[in-house]
Amino acid sequence: MTATLSEQAAVDRNGVPHYRMFIGGEWVESAETIPVIDPATEEVVCTVARADTSHVDAAVAAAKRTHESGVWRNTPPNERAAVIDRVVAALGPRMEELTVLSSRETGMPVRLAGAIGVGFPLVHLQHYAELTRTYEWERPAPVNGQVLHAGLLRKEPLGVCAGIVPWNFPAVIAVWKSIPALAAGNTVVLKTDEKTPIFALELAGLLREAGLPDGAYNVVVGDGPTVGGHLVAHPDVRLVSFTGSTATGRQVMASAAATVKRVLLELGGKGPNIVLDDADLDAAVDGSIYAFLLHAGQACESGTRLLLPASLHDEFVARLIARLRTLKIGSPLDPATDIGAVMNKTQHDRILGYIEKGKAEGATLAYGGSVPAGPGFEKGFWVEPTVFTGVSNDMCIAREEIFGPVLSVLKYDSIEEAIKIANDTEYGLAAAVWSSDNQRALEVAQQIEAGSVWINDYHNIDHFLPFGGYKQSGTGRELGPDALDEFTQAKSITFDLSGDVSRRAYGLVLGTPPAAK
Ligand code: NAD
Repeated sequence: MTATLSEQAAVDRNGVPHYRMFIGGEWVESAETIPVIDPATEEVVCTVARADTSHVDAAVAAAKRTHESGVWRNTPPNERAAVIDRVVAALGPRMEELTVLSSRETGMPVRLAGAIGVGFPLVHLQHYAELTRTYEWERPAPVNGQVLHAGLLRKEPLGVCAGIVPWNFPAVIAVWKSIPALAAGNTVVLKTDEKTPIFALELAGLLREAGLPDGAYNVVVGDGPTVGGHLVAHPDVRLVSFTGSTATGRQVMASAAATVKRVLLELGGKGPNIVLDDADLDAAVDGSIYAFLLHAGQACESGTRLLLPASLHDEFVARLIARLRTLKIGSPLDPATDIGAVMNKTQHDRILGYIEKGKAEGATLAYGGSVPAGPGFEKGFWVEPTVFTGVSNDMCIAREEIFGPVLSVLKYDSIEEAIKIANDTEYGLAAAVWSSDNQRALEVAQQIEAGSVWINDYHNIDHFLPFGGYKQSGTGRELGPDALDEFTQAKSITFDLSGDVSRRAYGLVLGTPPAAK
């Protein structure tokens, strides 16, 4: 499969697609260019115009003008939904081309890129179109139970919303940051990670063709601290929706405090994946691999702490390793590949650093731990799936988010101990419980401090259900109607229909009305 040049967003530069920023409905060039590197081959996939703070100012100004003009916020919800429908219709025929681009940009195996890099965004766009039609944007509200008063509860847009998109799932997260915001009548400035800007920019072309007014959706591509930092601090931005590391999330929250912005944070995780002693072992082994190895472990909700009952431990680990041996690591564009490349050299070195730390801390390296060598691995950034056993929950490899294909296996003796270990973390994004007894699994799930708990499954992010973190995994929720709640503010309007002044509380200030004396 080969990628074809997008007609919407990119121009040809010596045979390499070149993307410009999208500001105020225009493609905007800049003096500096960023190469987007394929993590598997180190080839240049495309180039992109690099934003500086002046581009952020221009994008926010465009978004503010569009918001204030009312051209989008006063568009009825059904017409806003119709714009999203047209994006869905235009995306359909481009699935294969965008799948290849997604795989090349992220190092994700093409099978996964088809499902998550393009399939998920498509389904979530459809979902938001439907929600835009059915969400209760306005409803009458009884006021204080008094029949002669009437009230109206409105869910109104906030204005300019900033979305900060990381590199791991850049397409679906660009959709989560922009589409519910637009559905609610806001305008958007997205800052994508420089390593993975393609989908957010393609979406700009699709939204423009679909009839979104100029300035409603803007994309800048630039570095985190300067360009992202400037966007977060901008006084005309009313909301920041950020996905990335907990460390950066703390900075975003602190910076947004100066202008009291609403902040949504999707941060890190160290997901506990708890196997109970009555689990279906075949399903739990495959599920535990899926939990930690999706996108080479570069997923915030990954199940990276596998909690096994002591009675099952040795058999389970043996089966897990036997299954890992059957998986193919290699070219992401090969449909037979199960595990692709990791994002870049920084990420590669960071993961290998954690593997060394795990060994130094006294955990047992039970599988993997090195860099694959030989034909196909001369270029790019690769790490073998790695399993540590003998891990205790106070080790770095059990506490810190590695964001790579590294599994820490911990033993427990009782369910109470498993729950205690599961919750002994600063994170609380996702978890799973494996059992053949749903009631037993549910009782455990209820005690786990996490925003999503899957029973006999993992990574099952359902677009109808809220997704987000407990504790330092974040604030706010993506997906489902909760996402529209996050991107709206409630306004209550009340009327006094009684015409009866004596019913009002004026007397508290004005004393007895003269007529009544
Ligand atoms: P990061 O938090 O540094 O970056 C995420 C996004 O935030 C990027 O677009 C980045 O440019 C931007 N950013 C960085 N500093 C910023 C700032 N001061 N103000 C505003 N925006 C800023 O994450 P990273 O460097 O891409 O990855 C490092 C670690 O973060 C990973 O190893 C992993 O642990 C975690 N991570 C988590 C997720 C997730 O989905 N929860 C996603 C990506 C990375």
